[in-house]
Amino acid sequence: MSAACVFCRIIAGEIPSMRVYEDASIVAFLDIAPLAPGHLLVVPRVHVTTLFEMTESQVSTVAAQLPRLAKAVLRVTGASGLNVLQNNGRSAGQVVEHVHFHLIPRVESDGLGFRWNAGSYPPGRAEDVQRRLVAELSDRSQTG
Ligand code: 5GP
Ligand code: ZN
Repeated sequence: MSAACVFCRIIAGEIPSMRVYEDASIVAFLDIAPLAPGHLLVVPRVHVTTLFEMTESQVSTVAAQLPRLAKAVLRVTGASGLNVLQNNGRSAGQVVEHVHFHLIPRVESDGLGFRWNAGSYPPGRAEDVQRRLVAELSDRSQTG
């Protein structure tokens, strides 16, 4: 628990929230400023800032509930699609520094848009990035 963290305070019940599901490990509640009705935030009870600091077990515990929560959002809202969004770090749009997963229900032509400025690699760059990532991921001294 971090006293300065708005989601820790929501989890502790110090700040009101519109909860839809909770168990020993996670809490799911309506986003206060939804991109669409039914926009949920799924958060672990433990205060962890980003995905990078989560243990595999913590990730598994949250991820295990996502399909069920997502299907409930789809049924209740009548949405035909859903984005799972998870921001890490200010540069990636993270505002609340307690790791969370957005479940955002979508319908065709909902006007939310989806900005995906696809790029391309200059010659040799993809191979360079691939080589370095493979080396990084095969380095057994990198445990976390
Ligand atoms: P981020 O940009 O960090 O991925 O998203 C943080 C989300 O938390 C935002 O969508 C924002 O609307 C939501 N949020 C921030 N403060 C509160 C709050 O006090 N209550 C609820 N329910 N949502 C919040
Ligand atoms: Zn927190």
